Amino acid sequence: MSETIAVIGGGPAGLEAARGVADLGGSVVLIEKEGFLGGTPIRENYAALTPNMEPAEVAMGRLIDGVHEAGVEVLLEHQVTACEGDAPEFRLTVTGPGGERTIECGGIIVATGFEHFDPGRETQIYGYYEHPDVLALQDLEAMLKEHNVVRPSTGLPPERICFVQCVGSRDRQIGNEYCSKVCCGVASKEAIEVRQQLPDCKVFIFYIDMRMYGYWENQIYWPAQEEHHVQYIKGIITEVLKKGDKLLVRGEDTTMGRPMEVAMDMVILSVGMEPSKGTRAMAGILGIEPNKYGFIDVANPPLDTVSTSRRGIWACGASLGPADLEDCASSGGAAAMKAMAFLRRKPVTVA
Ligand SMILES: Cc1cc2nc3c(=O)[nH]c(=O)nc-3n(C[C@H](O)[C@H](O)[C@H](O)COP(=O)(O)OP(=O)(O)OC[C@H]3O[C@@H](n4cnc5c(N)ncnc54)[C@H](O)[C@@H]3O)c2cc1C
Ligand code: SF4
Repeated sequence: MSETIAVIGGGPAGLEAARGVADLGGSVVLIEKEGFLGGTPIRENYAALTPNMEPAEVAMGRLIDGVHEAGVEVLLEHQVTACEGDAPEFRLTVTGPGGERTIECGGIIVATGFEHFDPGRETQIYGYYEHPDVLALQDLEAMLKEHNVVRPSTGLPPERICFVQCVGSRDRQIGNEYCSKVCCGVASKEAIEVRQQLPDCKVFIFYIDMRMYGYWENQIYWPAQEEHHVQYIKGIITEVLKKGDKLLVRGEDTTMGRPMEVAMDMVILSVGMEPSKGTRAMAGILGIEPNKYGFIDVANPPLDTVSTSRRGIWACGASLGPADLEDCASSGGAAAMKAMAFLRRKPVTVA
């Protein structure tokens, strides 16, 4: 029986899970396909993170340092390509720059995360690939990080920006009926950052309904309106067209019940979360059940949030569905605890 836990994915959830296993005295190997740790917040150049506006690099840096200090073995640029055996004697084949190797492990934690919905896929109405000034949340994050929010078409700072919520989420037509959970908060956070960096720029958020759960209501939503004068408009956007050097945003103001047409310099699409390719691949390679959207299914909800359909395999973070960083830290820790408990559980002898 192997005493090692393999953690697949080195984003916020996998980092927390790996450190948790090591802190509990376990041996852990962390397998990450990229050449760096930190997951999507680092790969996509996120600027500041909710709710404290701490730079993403600083927050992720703390998690990464924790993993190194705990003595976790890290394999960068490695991917799991096959899995044989059963708990607690799995054999994973991992492939990396140096070729193939086998890892023997007693349990596996999947933390392969999410990817952003592609706004050009079934929602061409927003012209993401047609108009350079139509961007997605992660594109604006990268500009905010550089303190260089400019219209790609002119290189000049915008005077009017709007966010369009629920792009690729809560949409029955494309089969993503779920709410992606973070995009209302992230759009509001980015709106605040735009107002801070460009005080003369007017910022609007078009929403179906705002879903700021927990403390984000007071930490982000009200300050966005009351301190930073971001304007929230309840409305459905149906089209983004080019008119002269502006973008014409068309839709319906659902509070007033009338058609709406407004000119903007930049439109930011609040894209939702979908399972990453790695998450889809792991479901197949490890033989664990995905749900109908392709995220990993939890076997015993609601109180067991990390056990999968297969004994000895747990999942955490956004591989399980839309999640913010707090969810990732919580489920990463829970997966570490379950994995170590599984390896150390003594068989019960009945007299
Ligand atoms: C624009 C935007 C801004 C956001 N800002 C915030 C914020 O301010 N606050 C907040 O709480 N949340 C925010 N979020 C949500 C946050 O990004 C996620 O909660 C978090 O990144 C999920 O972490 P994760 O570790 O589960 O997955 P990820 O961050 O996606 O990490 C997954 C890791 O697994 C690796 N991987 C994938 N496949 C494989 C494979 N086959 N083998 C090995 N490794 C693999 C990836 O390379 C990656 O490193 C934001 C989301 C978006 C879209
Ligand atoms: S968090 Fe907001 S923008 Fe994202 S899917 Fe839910 S309601 Fe829509």
